[in-house]
Amino acid sequence: MQVPASFDYQRAESVDEALELLRRYGEEARVVAGGHSLLPMMKLRLAAPEVLVDINDLHELDHIVLVGDELRVGALTRHRTLLESELVGRYFPIVHDAEKVIADPPVRNRGTIGGSLCQADPSEDLSAVCGALHAHAVIRGTDGERIVSM
Ligand SMILES: Cc1cc2nc3c(=O)[nH]c(=O)nc-3n(C[C@H](O)[C@H](O)[C@H](O)COP(=O)(O)OP(=O)(O)OC[C@H]3O[C@@H](n4cnc5c(N)ncnc54)[C@H](O)[C@@H]3O)c2cc1C
Repeated sequence: MQVPASFDYQRAESVDEALELLRRYGEEARVVAGGHSLLPMMKLRLAAPEVLVDINDLHELDHIVLVGDELRVGALTRHRTLLESELVGRYFPIVHDAEKVIADPPVRNRGTIGGSLCQADPSEDLSAVCGALHAHAVIRGTDGERIVSM
């Protein structure tokens, strides 16, 4: 049986609290979103964070909105939400094309775009899609925010 090393668990109630927890625990902490990449790595002992910061209550990070000519997608948006979004299908059908072939419903129900992009697996679909679309990532920390071209 594969079991992860022991770890502490913190469930953030706001983005600011999550950032503060990450600042406090530093390199020893990892965000957990859908957990579909991180938890298998922990079970295989390829990752052994001492603290998990759960962001699943941060509903403000779960959104798809059109602002002017920009589509903004929150980090906690699930694969399934992207696949079912009429807005995404209308403006960026390539995202639907990719989502249709990402894993299976259990993975798509939990996995997030933020987790996919932060995992940055070279074979991962959404990173390639975001690169092709010349997307930008908004990255926030306790020191502020920066925007990085993908
Ligand atoms: C069986 C299976 C099949 C799969 N098939 C495919 C596939 O065909 N194509 C594909 O592209 N992907 C595939 N995946 C990968 C899947 O898409 C990713 O596991 C998932 O979307 C990652 O998102 P998550 O929310 O689960 O991330 P997590 O596992 O929660 O996190 C992954 C990493 O990102 C970090 N992280 C997560 N969210 C944030 C955040 N908001 N800010 C900072 N860091 C963050 C975590 O700390 C961790 O290091 C598959 C996964 C499984 C288990």
